Amino acid sequence: MTFTGIGDGQTGSARAHFVLVPMLAQGHTIPMTDMARLLAEHGAQVSFITTPVNASRLAGFAADVEAAGLAVRLVELHFPSAEFGLPDGCENLDMIQSTDLLSNFMDAIAALQEPLKAYLREQQRLPPSCIISDLIHWWTGDIARELGIPRLTFSGFCGFSSLIRYITYHNNVFQNVKDENELITITGFPTPLELTKAKCPGNFCIPGMEQIRKKFLEEELKSDGEVINSFQELETLYIESFEQTTKKKVWAVGPMFLCHRDNNTMAARGNKASMDEAQCLQWLDSMKPGSMVFVSFGSLACTTPQQLVELGLGLETSRKPFIWVIKAGAKLPEVEEWLADEFEERVKNRGMVIRGWAPQLMILQHQAVGGFVTHCGWNSTIEGICAGVPMITWPHFGEQFLNEKLLVDVLKIGMEVGVKGVTQWGSENQEVMVTRDEVQKAVNTLMDEGAAAEEMRERAKDCAIKARRAFDVGGSSYDNIRLLIQEMEIKTNACGSVVDTDGNKLSFLV
Ligand code: UDP
Repeated sequence: MTFTGIGDGQTGSARAHFVLVPMLAQGHTIPMTDMARLLAEHGAQVSFITTPVNASRLAGFAADVEAAGLAVRLVELHFPSAEFGLPDGCENLDMIQSTDLLSNFMDAIAALQEPLKAYLREQQRLPPSCIISDLIHWWTGDIARELGIPRLTFSGFCGFSSLIRYITYHNNVFQNVKDENELITITGFPTPLELTKAKCPGNFCIPGMEQIRKKFLEEELKSDGEVINSFQELETLYIESFEQTTKKKVWAVGPMFLCHRDNNTMAARGNKASMDEAQCLQWLDSMKPGSMVFVSFGSLACTTPQQLVELGLGLETSRKPFIWVIKAGAKLPEVEEWLADEFEERVKNRGMVIRGWAPQLMILQHQAVGGFVTHCGWNSTIEGICAGVPMITWPHFGEQFLNEKLLVDVLKIGMEVGVKGVTQWGSENQEVMVTRDEVQKAVNTLMDEGAAAEEMRERAKDCAIKARRAFDVGGSSYDNIRLLIQEMEIKTNACGSVVDTDGNKLSFLV
């Protein structure tokens, strides 16, 4: 695919400069790296805000964009861990050892406000045109207002889940609900919907989080629009309804990860993989097309040893080939003991276990994959959609239960494994949410040749085709990203220069 640079000097207009401020968590940062790449490929200039520890994880991304000659600058701001009572170098959500430290972490992030503002004021040669901020960073609102530039939000949610989040918060849907497992009818949603409080985002048991949530959801009301990593044709009704409900422009520009066109950049996404990628590819190549299940629960969920054992035994009895990504955090040695106790030996001809970070995108794009057991984080969900395979849904917390509904009830390309409850992030839930028999049954139902599974596979393939069309030249997401850049350029040029709230004119290079 070739791109024509927009505002690249040929028109004599200023180039749009986007400032991307991701949440310091892999599931939020990764799609924003894709967004940076995409914006730059379409001719924009990007400043990607990060911190030293996170920048080291982004080394692969930095090398890729540099090699591609893209105008993306990684901006490292000092992260004040010690000042906020955090261990040295604790700069990412996945490094927090206890949920008690979450509000310290969020406060430390909010303290990036002044250094970021100072950095942006220094950019006299190419002042920022717009901030795309993670929804959670309420404090970027003040920066945008002071600099007199638009602020768009990126929550990492799809349209369906964004709309539910918006309605349930702003209509106080769960305010007087005593039993968090009671089914509540959601009015104002375009299709019939019943949900429990427990399975909705924002049901935190973490001190300080409720106030932070209130701040960022109130700030969302003042934003100039939302960017989502989804595409119009996947969930038209919900994206349009989200736009009407919020009365804000929603830019659906996904699936953004499709900007990766080869295995090298796919494998370098997020973290360095914990295993040899070439070996993994070789293993995948040895499997029949569509024969294998991929099992992964994202970057944050640390599954308990008991649950991992049940899952492993279910995979074993299903007799299907699999790649299973295990993140057990501090409990990994316990799990290692079980794996070494003949499990890996028993499944060695058809099972691969990856401890730590897997090259998920590379695996999912391989033709050997026929099904995906996912925790339904939105990135994994959209990656599964683009892989064109049906999914077994195993949500843990937050909006994952909503994404499950989209997959199972709306798109009909997913089947529930049947989790018994919520596994809150960071909590030591000892309960087994899914038994080995349930795992085995779900995997066999999905991977076998029954008519229902076949229909699901057809629908999944159709979604993948639509995703690719939306992203490619002339597709809805392709057009949206160009329109987004154009709109920000027009705003910048209309001012002749950006004027901050103190009336200082900031000039830029033309
Ligand atoms: N991911 C990966 N390797 C892993 C775990 C996760 O590449 O071992 C990537 C995955 O492809 C996705 C992101 O990390 O892009 C996880 O985001 P998601 O929204 O699915 O879940 P979260 O981690 O936020 O719960």
